[in-house]
Amino acid sequence: MKESAKELRWISDKREARRSVLEARASGKRIGLVPTMGNLHVGHASLFRQARGETDVVVATIFVNPIQFCPGEDFEAYPRTPKEDREICNAAGVDIVFAPDVAEMYPTGACTRVQVGELEEPLCGGNRPGHFVGVATVVAKLFHIIPADAAYFGAKDYQQVRILRQMVEDLDFPVEIRVCPTVRESDGLAMSSRNRYLSQEERRQATILKRSLELADALLQQGEKNATRIRQRMVDLIQTMNRAEVDYVEIVDPDSLQGVQSIEGPVLAALAVRFGKARLIDNAVLQRGQ
Ligand code: AMP
Repeated sequence: MKESAKELRWISDKREARRSVLEARASGKRIGLVPTMGNLHVGHASLFRQARGETDVVVATIFVNPIQFCPGEDFEAYPRTPKEDREICNAAGVDIVFAPDVAEMYPTGACTRVQVGELEEPLCGGNRPGHFVGVATVVAKLFHIIPADAAYFGAKDYQQVRILRQMVEDLDFPVEIRVCPTVRESDGLAMSSRNRYLSQEERRQATILKRSLELADALLQQGEKNATRIRQRMVDLIQTMNRAEVDYVEIVDPDSLQGVQSIEGPVLAALAVRFGKARLIDNAVLQRGQ
């Protein structure tokens, strides 16, 4: 990884962050925004690099957003590693990190929320009520604080991207949403900050997620069009692992996120599975003949 020539700026004040970005824009620079919750890994770095290649000033945000965690979830335990994050940002050519604290983002009395209709209900919305309202609200705020030309998100969080695209369209945010492919470990497990919750045995078993997506693809290529049957084969495969607890496995329309019966065009196979303390998600867009 190339060390960036310029000094990384670490800003926690939202007015200062906005001022810095507006100054860069005024001098004709294109701004790329990469929202994260920190504990950065190679997946996040791939977003920074894509932003680096397409824009002039890369702004990463690091904020563990309390309102997107449901009661009983891992908000307190979520790993916070600012020192290591700084190194990854430096190495990936990030120019500015905006890392506010909770009071900076949600001062006393803040109560406005952004809700993106029915797209928030299926898939992760079912198991994590209120999660996407929290995501849409914080990203809307970040779009105002960091007026970017393009914002970069990972395909791993497919439903998040779908919801944010809708929000951008509905609320006329002047920002282009860019989606980057999921970065995986060599055995196929999608990189995630939550992988560190896995024990050695759970980590070994978690490779079943990617393999279940590959099974779905193989069945589709063999001519199986019945989504229920494919879904059941995926569940059966995942359940060969004794530490796996399935939250959901679904085959849905990639646009509406509603379940499909007979697979004619592209579909999204999406899943969330718990291994011990870790709730892992993964997905693949599948199409016959690919
Ligand atoms: P997070 O810090 O988990 O909220 O993720 C911040 C951004 O990084 C989101 O847009 C994620 O979709 C993206 N991301 C997380 N893991 C990966 C990965 N393995 N590959 C690509 N992007 C990722």
